[in-house]
Amino acid sequence: MNELVENLRRNRNLSDDELRELIESGSYDDDLRTAADEVRREHYGDKVFLRGLIEFSNCCKRDCLYCGLRASNRTADRYRLSMEEILSCCEEGYGLGYRTFVLQSGEDPYYSDDRICAIVAAIRERFPDCAITLSIGEKSRESYQRYFDAGANRFLLRHETADPVHYAKLHPADMSAQNRRRCLWDLKEIGYQVGAGFMVGSPYQTTENLIADLRFLQELQPDMIGIGPYLTHHATPFKDEPNGSADLTLRLLSILRLMFPYVLLPATTALGTILPDGRERGLKAGANVVMPNLSPVSTRKKYEIYENKICTGEESAQCRNCLEMRVKAAGYQVVTDRGDVRRP
Ligand code: SAH
Repeated sequence: MNELVENLRRNRNLSDDELRELIESGSYDDDLRTAADEVRREHYGDKVFLRGLIEFSNCCKRDCLYCGLRASNRTADRYRLSMEEILSCCEEGYGLGYRTFVLQSGEDPYYSDDRICAIVAAIRERFPDCAITLSIGEKSRESYQRYFDAGANRFLLRHETADPVHYAKLHPADMSAQNRRRCLWDLKEIGYQVGAGFMVGSPYQTTENLIADLRFLQELQPDMIGIGPYLTHHATPFKDEPNGSADLTLRLLSILRLMFPYVLLPATTALGTILPDGRERGLKAGANVVMPNLSPVSTRKKYEIYENKICTGEESAQCRNCLEMRVKAAGYQVVTDRGDVRRP
């Protein structure tokens, strides 16, 4: 095995130059993948954890330049799910074996803290053995505390890019890398299991930016890391920017597995969108989580953060079965426990 990969596998901290070499050269990919798969098996065996994703609103007050849900996109067909609709998604998911529900949305002011807390509390009461994950964007520390007290356990908030200058090129002036980080540290201090992450190949991204992302993650030590290729959406200012690379995403998944052996790492829908067997290849590269869609079929297409998103036509039960087959074919096993992080 290559020495750089071996050093990473032994948990030695690589220099920026060494990381740059691994990120930019494809010649270590086989070694990276093999080492990453060994490490995931040491820590999690062949288990793949399921998270049932409920995209409960596509309304958003933010204007992130890459995202199809941005407020300025007047062509988006906006929707909101009621408490009853969300609970019935959970009901269906519970029957299919899901023990984690991920509630994701744009930053939609309609869902006040009171409303979010009521939704979380209702899920907590009906499904006491399930983990509740929120992915609803940047809030105040007080708000995060309230959701936690209502029963939420985990929070996904990708940092998107750790470099403030790059961050400013992807976001409008009323957003900052600094506030995003503040949110992540608050969430961690409150006691959430926290997920950070970034897009691969977002416009203007450099290798230096990716190294900064890895360094930030070393500092934060999150429980989950979500990465996927940047994918173009026609109704954004980035409509002419190219998609991110699947190969680079797979390479980074392996690097992340080696740097963070314990971490929960999803093979994302974006990876499955850019490559037909992207999620399977993500699992083989070190990922150990998949997030099948539990949203009502009637709204799925409308949660269009990027174009050509897969799995928007199938019923939840079909998604569940399809993914189980894919996971098995890749050589792993779907498990239905909560799948909490296993830190050393
Ligand atoms: N409003 C929530 C959820 C955002 S959607 C929040 O702010 O956290 C979840 C993730 O999708 C984002 O964090 C971003 O990394 C990713 N995403 C958004 N637009 C994308 C695009 N065009 N291509 C790929 N990923 C995208």
